Amino acid sequence: MIGIQITIDHEKCTRCGQCVELCPMSVLDWVEQNGKTNISATHPEMCWACLTCAGKCHVKAISIEQHEQQRKYIDDENKTPFKTISPHDAEICQDYAESLEKILKLRSRPVAVNLIKNGSPLPHVPVPRKRLRYCQALIMARRGYSLLMPAWAHACPDGTSILGLSKIPPKLASGEIYVQLGKLATQEAASQMVKERPRIAEDSMRATLVSPLDEAVMMPDVVVIMAPPESMMWLCMASTYYTGRRMTFRMSSYNAQCVESTLYPYTTGEMNTSLGCYGCRAISDIGEESMFLGIPMGKMQTIVDGLKQLGRRAIPDSRAKIYLQPIP
Ligand code: SF4
Ligand code: SF4
Repeated sequence: MIGIQITIDHEKCTRCGQCVELCPMSVLDWVEQNGKTNISATHPEMCWACLTCAGKCHVKAISIEQHEQQRKYIDDENKTPFKTISPHDAEICQDYAESLEKILKLRSRPVAVNLIKNGSPLPHVPVPRKRLRYCQALIMARRGYSLLMPAWAHACPDGTSILGLSKIPPKLASGEIYVQLGKLATQEAASQMVKERPRIAEDSMRATLVSPLDEAVMMPDVVVIMAPPESMMWLCMASTYYTGRRMTFRMSSYNAQCVESTLYPYTTGEMNTSLGCYGCRAISDIGEESMFLGIPMGKMQTIVDGLKQLGRRAIPDSRAKIYLQPIP
């Protein structure tokens, strides 16, 4: 487990109470201390290091520090040994990654994602030293890291419960926190958003695994791509190159990486796009021009084949702006 130290500077604190209201895990509360009413971490063991309290405190009175855990790997007691990716499958993943990067000139690496079910063996892949949000783990994978994350290595109670690694905390289940954060107008709207949002059965997953696609340690469930809209356009065209079918995407701009880029492709077998969300944009340096696409592994061959065809004429012609005339 990763130890978390919560420190509240009572000199700076204006006692506005925002942190108590916003903490999704009800870690913070009012307590009487030396004749004063102060904010205190009354349930520090419940803290996920999500940084909601620290980020929203208007005087920066809260600090959340994680003690780096020393254990690099999990000692898996599962009796079934983990079956690592075969050389043939590894080659397929490398070919997909290379084709995507070369034809689209992607600036970040496609990410292989696996949701490891309860009861399944774990790969020998490092766990992060500190808790990370799932969206941050994807960023790390784009930068070349492979990470295995059971629930205790995740920092977002929302995304972690959505992906089936934990139970949803009451404040997130009711949606009240979305109203408090100013993201939805009413409790009714928040309840509706939560009701319509899909989720994987709670506690059914053991861990998330992310890695660069060309270094996948097992055949991925989903490939997540971050790119500008123009690259997404080609990927959509590639997916329908042989059928001409129209596409339907499911988006709400809530829970972009966990729901839109991962859960939907995982559960429906269809690719799904995402514009990002408040959480993943607030916690990272994802550029304004970036959006996301989750592709189920079963669709990758069709998409890469289509992309190779588009890469012969359509993509270079369009990128060369062949119809661009000077505006009179
Ligand atoms: S949000 Fe900051 S200022 Fe407000 S009560 Fe919490 S610690 Fe104090
Ligand atoms: S970091 Fe998150 S879980 Fe921990 S006290 Fe702050 S808001 Fe609550």
